[in-house]
Amino acid sequence: MDVLPTGSNVAASCVVCNSRYPRARLSLGYVTCLSCGDKDAKRVKHCIVPMHKSNYIPVTDPKLLVQINSKGVRS
Ligand SMILES: [Zn+2]
Repeated sequence: MDVLPTGSNVAASCVVCNSRYPRARLSLGYVTCLSCGDKDAKRVKHCIVPMHKSNYIPVTDPKLLVQINSKGVRS
């Protein structure tokens, strides 16, 4: 595809390289352009999840989040 983001379709600037990227991407929660977002996704593959015992664990798999939610409450 050779469609460049132009005009009113572009409303956001990448926080890393200041490139413009489509507003739709921003609405998905991304604050970087596609190329920077791709690098970022490779560098940071986990998110930190606060546990009920007040410690934080890194989670790389969304399925693990579900397990934490269902099993973490029981003791
Ligand atoms: Zn960028």
